[in-house]
Formats: sequence, C-alpha cells, structure tokens
Amino acid sequence: MLITCPYCGPRDVIEFTYQGDGNRERPDPASQNFEAWNAYVYDRLNPAGDHNEIWQHSGGCRAHLRVVRNTLTHEISKVTFVRGDHSSAARRKAEDKS
Ligand SMILES: [Zn+2]
Repeated sequence: MLITCPYCGPRDVIEFTYQGDGNRERPDPASQNFEAWNAYVYDRLNPAGDHNEIWQHSGGCRAHLRVVRNTLTHEISKVTFVRGDHSSAARRKAEDKS
C-alpha cells in the first residue's frame, strides 16, 4: 500500500505509523461529562468503506496526516496535513540538509 505524503510524495506504508481513528473529537479537558469521555476513549467506528484515519510519516518528514482509506479495498482517496500547514515538516527537512 502506498500513501502519498503531501510533502514527500508516494511512499510505502512501512514508512508510516497508524495513529488512530480520525473521527474522534476530544471533549473539553475540564469537562466532567463521563459519557463524552467514555465515547472518546472507547467508541470506534468500524465502517465497511471510506474511513478517516490519522497516520504519521514517521520514516519521513514526521508530519501527521489525515488519510481517507477504503477499508475494503485499501484505496486511499485523500491525504492532507492534520494541521493544515506543513511549515514544521518543511523546517525539519531543511534543518536535516544543513
Ligand atoms: Zn512525508
């Protein structure tokens, strides 16, 4: 399986680390809504089809990526940076070259 990192280009999945379900929303840290915290910690979607996932390019630029992967075919339809900009990844890569 190939994942196309927006910064590095297509790379084998062995360079990436799965970081979890990309659909979860963390409750407010001050919240004492135990149902919301229970859902955040334990509830997971298990779709047969497109699934939002977080992957880290741990063997490359180390950026965290939001990946839409079809769980039936492993086809990847979308890859974006989790934080929207890649300035930190670009800065690290420039520092590695110096
Ligand atoms: Zn990368």
